[in-house]
Amino acid sequence: MSNTTNTTNVIGNVENVVIIGSGCAGLTAAVYTGRANLSPLVLEGGQPGGQLTTTSEVENFPGFPEGIDGFQLMDNLRKQAAKFSARFETGVVASVDFAARPLVVRTGEREIRARAVIIATGAAPRMTGIPGERELSGGKGVTACATCDGAFYRDMDVAVIGGGDSACEEALFLTRFASKVYLVHRRDALRASKIMVERATSHPKIEMAWNSVPVEVVGMAEDAVSGLRVRDVKSGDERVLPVKGVFVAIGHRPNTEAFAGALAMDEQGYLKAVAGSQVRTEIAGVYVAGDCADHVYRQAISAAGMGCQAAIEVERWLSGEIPNPKIPNPKKIPNYKIPKTNPRIRIQHTIRPPK
Ligand code: NAP
Repeated sequence: MSNTTNTTNVIGNVENVVIIGSGCAGLTAAVYTGRANLSPLVLEGGQPGGQLTTTSEVENFPGFPEGIDGFQLMDNLRKQAAKFSARFETGVVASVDFAARPLVVRTGEREIRARAVIIATGAAPRMTGIPGERELSGGKGVTACATCDGAFYRDMDVAVIGGGDSACEEALFLTRFASKVYLVHRRDALRASKIMVERATSHPKIEMAWNSVPVEVVGMAEDAVSGLRVRDVKSGDERVLPVKGVFVAIGHRPNTEAFAGALAMDEQGYLKAVAGSQVRTEIAGVYVAGDCADHVYRQAISAAGMGCQAAIEVERWLSGEIPNPKIPNPKKIPNYKIPKTNPRIRIQHTIRPPK
């Protein structure tokens, strides 16, 4: 994926819209805002293309009856956004100032001012925190990405930890290389979708380790994974699965640290939209999209849908077409006065986007 940054169509060094993140949500927002002639600037983040670039076959993205490779899908989407003059810049957001006007977004390298911001930073894999996991990550046998690392485990036994769709998908993918895949789940029923459960539990190379909690990745002495110690939650018995690779697939945490204090979040760190919207935040001109703000659906297509919604909101906000959804936090807006309104009438916003 090439970098295509330029600074045209930016008014007085103030971007129309900065899109933070380049996964499904961010790139869909880039297509829509690009097509609306807003020349969006996309900050690609630490994982350009987002989580789908680490996925193998995507079978449920509408429009691809034969499925599509995750990396290919994201590359297509990036090209589509670039076609409509989206600009891309490598950068991870370190902090923001959403009380300022224009809005301020800071990366390690520079400070960017923008009239509107779409946050689409996605989520990152959660890890178990058991002994040996961190020590044996990074080429020593513990990983959270079967697509990236599966081929290194040809004819070896591996374990996948988790019981959701990700764990089943990883386990099934690994059957292409590994001689045996233990699917280690802490309960006696998978939470994955029915079709994935059927595929995983009926695959001859996958052995289910039910009611098994991982307690240690074995191999620290040799500096390479030689097993996964698991405990049976019913009997308390422990055993070591003789594996060379451990794939952790226990869900994700949202990438929202940079927005702490600037935007409302739930207790898990997911960004919160205001009531009645999936994408509007309490700050005028700031929108959220995708997995950083969605712990319910978390699908590529639902992230893309939120990116589309956020882009349309930005378009309308910048044209002054719609009032802000909610009164901004008065503490954050200098001299801002809460308008007196009839509570039964929908609150109208009095701040217009900067010209
Ligand atoms: P998930 O559905 O949240 O599943 C996480 C799994 O990890 C659960 O089975 C959970 O056990 C287990 N777990 C959590 N913490 C653990 C720990 N500390 N030790 C051991 N096990 C632990 O996450 P996901 O599988 O990543 O899926 C997330 C979302 O993406 C879902 O909505 C899913 O449908 C979607 N997804 C879809 C596809 C697809 O359609 N192709 C592929 C991947 C993901 P419990 O069950 O006991 O809680």
